Amino acid sequence: MNEIFLLKLGEIVLKGQNRFTFENKLKQNVRRRLKHFGDFHIYIVQSTVYVEPQSDACDLDGAWEACGTIFGVVSMCRCRAAEKNLDAIFDAVMEYLGDELAAAESFKVESKRSDKSFPLGSIQISQEIGGRIAEALPQVRVDVHDPAYLVNVEIRDYAAYIHGPAVPGAGGLPTGVGGRAAVLLSGGIDSPVAGHMIAKRGAEIECVHFFSYPYTSERAKEKVLELARLMTKYTGRMTVDIVGFTEIQEAIRDRCPEEYFTILMRGFMMRIAQEIALDHGCGCLVTGENLGQVASQTMEAMACTGAVVKLPMFHPLIGMDKEDIVRIARKIGTLDTSILPYEDCCTVFTPRHPKTKPQLAQVEAAEARLDVDALVRRALENTEKVQVRFYEDE
Ligand code: ATP
Ligand code: MG
Repeated sequence: MNEIFLLKLGEIVLKGQNRFTFENKLKQNVRRRLKHFGDFHIYIVQSTVYVEPQSDACDLDGAWEACGTIFGVVSMCRCRAAEKNLDAIFDAVMEYLGDELAAAESFKVESKRSDKSFPLGSIQISQEIGGRIAEALPQVRVDVHDPAYLVNVEIRDYAAYIHGPAVPGAGGLPTGVGGRAAVLLSGGIDSPVAGHMIAKRGAEIECVHFFSYPYTSERAKEKVLELARLMTKYTGRMTVDIVGFTEIQEAIRDRCPEEYFTILMRGFMMRIAQEIALDHGCGCLVTGENLGQVASQTMEAMACTGAVVKLPMFHPLIGMDKEDIVRIARKIGTLDTSILPYEDCCTVFTPRHPKTKPQLAQVEAAEARLDVDALVRRALENTEKVQVRFYEDE
């Protein structure tokens, strides 16, 4: 049971006065996330979260994977704790990393000494341990410039910790330090990534989805709920508000000029999402829009949709290339679900020649024959709230 995880904090370290708030939030988040994997002692010392299993019943592999989804952690390592003396440290290195070391072509030992009372400096520790390794494994050469394998020794307050190369954490800031955001979630590739990116900056998120039964199927809705569930692996649990959008789409189709269908529909989405956002205490709306990707994602079109709401609208993907978005979707695990072929409500009433450079006055004239307030109110009444979570007991 002398295995332990060290999670290194990223930007939090720079946050001056707020640092303790940030650290406490992170600690809470780690505790909540690891609850499912057994009893762990979790504390922060010297800008590092220590995760110590308290019994052999802990699921260390599950916990390690979950640590990789916690925002605010920049890098992490799985370590062996040893007593703070060279013999114990060397024994631990050989026992814990011996197989990997023996298989490597070359190695280097890097040491850090944050316990300044330890009698040797970091260079001396590295030389001592490196020398003993070289003696024990003569076939593995020492290479201080470009080692194939890096052995880390950290002399900290309570113990010495030994680990191989650190792996990247989820990055960003701890969930809960950045306010709350309402994400407009469609079934596509982009919006789950947009939601993930805003969550990565410390925001808690809620999602809003518009669906148009019977033009879109029950399975399209299930797909979106599954996307939301996948997102909660990183973001923690959330509510998805599912808004019945059929009446609005039919009203637009029946009473407005076709070239404005999409832009009008998007205006309604924003108005409704704003009401839901305010209800959840969210301070912004988030979409997966991306400049130039489709007709409704020109500057002019986005200005018209933005004009109907007061909350700030954030579009984290605005300047990204599709291949970069796809790469993130793959990494966070939403891509395979996003590409399942179910229809989205946007595609159902797509105009043949959408206006790509609409003016606000024209858009307002185009919707003059609709009772906007009444349509918004009825859609809000026709909203279902679904709780989603990745882990059963979260
Ligand atoms: P995505 O891949 O996220 O579907 P997209 O490139 O297909 O994006 P659009 O369909 O034009 O783009 O939608 C732009 C944004 O509007 C989406 O990223 C999402 O934030 C929001 N949106 C579109 N359709 C819906 C919907 N049915 N419910 C909720 N939000 C939606
Ligand atoms: Mg879409």
